[in-house]
Amino acid sequence: MEDKNPPRNTITFLGTGGARIVVANQILASGGLWLNLDDTEILIDPGPGCIVQSTKRKLKADRLSAIILSHRHLDHSGDINIMAEAMTQGGFKHRGWLFTPADALEGEPVIFSYLKNYLEGIEILQEGKSYSIGNISFTTPIRHIHPVETYGMLFRTHEHTFSYIADSRYFDGLCASYGGELVIINVVFLEPRPTIDHLSVPDAKRIITEIKPKAAILTHFGTPMWQAKPWKIAQRLSQETGVRVISARDGMRFDLSQLNES
Ligand SMILES: [Zn+2]
Repeated sequence: MEDKNPPRNTITFLGTGGARIVVANQILASGGLWLNLDDTEILIDPGPGCIVQSTKRKLKADRLSAIILSHRHLDHSGDINIMAEAMTQGGFKHRGWLFTPADALEGEPVIFSYLKNYLEGIEILQEGKSYSIGNISFTTPIRHIHPVETYGMLFRTHEHTFSYIADSRYFDGLCASYGGELVIINVVFLEPRPTIDHLSVPDAKRIITEIKPKAAILTHFGTPMWQAKPWKIAQRLSQETGVRVISARDGMRFDLSQLNES
């Protein structure tokens, strides 16, 4: 058991699994990212098991200011309803914001409509727009190439700037859209698979080389990536790029103050 509310300026990885097989078998957890940024707590991409992963670490959903969904795929949104309900203490507290692409609310919505009455509000993510939550702000600089509407985020806190590059095919303009001292990259594939809209290790290397952050964290691993031991890949990428590359582990907590050291 880890301590209660996450310390200030930390990112807790409630899962590092991506793609269907890893998530369906829970080879790796899939609970998303829990941020505490200048005491504003935000949950990103609550995939299946988020409620279990967060409560077992004593993270309190009713302290969340917002939940951000990068896109509607199940491995990112599976627990969105229970987490939104938990953020509002089962609907007893009218609070919290949801940030989501429009298509997660349309057609076959992944968010139950009754939750809208519990929340303070819903904001629709759009390319190039900026948003603020509590003490921080973020932008969704560019729409990703992925089968559904998908955005990554560039966060700005008092002291730090960092990017979360959610699911996408690699494309020109991806690197130029993001930046900061830290880049978190969803690297599903070990090798490029040109027919599927996900990033691979060579794509991650290109992103790290172009952005040159102080640190990069790889996460959201598919089966071959996991079998190849992501920490070994991270070590190799560190040597090849000169950037500190870390492979996320389930439950890992990254303290943003580490970025001040170099
Ligand atoms: Zn996806």
